[in-house]
Amino acid sequence: MISDNLQEVQQEIQDSCALVSRSSSEVTLVGVTKSVDTEQTIELANQGLKHLAENRADQFLAKKKEMSHLTDISWHFIGNLQRRKVKSIINEIDYFHALDSLKLANEIQKRAERTIRCFVEVNVSGESSKQGIAYEELEAFIEQLASFDKIKVVGLMTLAPLHSTQKEQHEIFAKLKSLQEMIQEKGLDFAPCTQTSMGMSNDFSVAIQEGATFIRVGTALFKN
Ligand SMILES: *Cc1c(COP(=O)(O)O)cnc(C)c1O
Repeated sequence: MISDNLQEVQQEIQDSCALVSRSSSEVTLVGVTKSVDTEQTIELANQGLKHLAENRADQFLAKKKEMSHLTDISWHFIGNLQRRKVKSIINEIDYFHALDSLKLANEIQKRAERTIRCFVEVNVSGESSKQGIAYEELEAFIEQLASFDKIKVVGLMTLAPLHSTQKEQHEIFAKLKSLQEMIQEKGLDFAPCTQTSMGMSNDFSVAIQEGATFIRVGTALFKN
């Protein structure tokens, strides 16, 4: 049941924070609802989880409309966003987790009616199949965002490779954390970069141990 799953995830968040003496208030659980219907999404929201994430434009818009009576939801968009979909999506979301090109930044700048909180997606593992900015190019990429007044870089986001070991997960998340701190230390007003979006159902404990502030969890909340 969703309520039991949610309790289990929240317990694991607390336990993971305790391992490294962090306060669990530093970690925002984002419920990834991409693979469930609106009814289950509402059930999760009714259990008190107010940060929800989708990765497909059309499904997101349909759900948001059906849930418009729930006014206290923060919507996160975590997927690859096609440029032609930016117009319909960008003013409907609270956070965008997958900024990974200047072309996309240009389109957001053109379509956004307010400042959009964005995570720059980083390809930490160097896997060629992965989305995201190569970490060697991250600084230059972020510096180029200075002129985009509709984009605020609140943090960095990454995914660990599908079949990575725990050791590899630790390395990847630690690397994202150090990149985040490196950008934060620059003190850029368009890129405060205080956050890290990392960790999913299988690896969020490791991500929290390495300093995650937003974790994106789907399967673990909806398993039977
Ligand atoms: C699906 C997805 C998640 C959640 O994955 P689970 O393994 O179901 O927890 C997190 N982040 C992104 C970018 C996703 O696409």
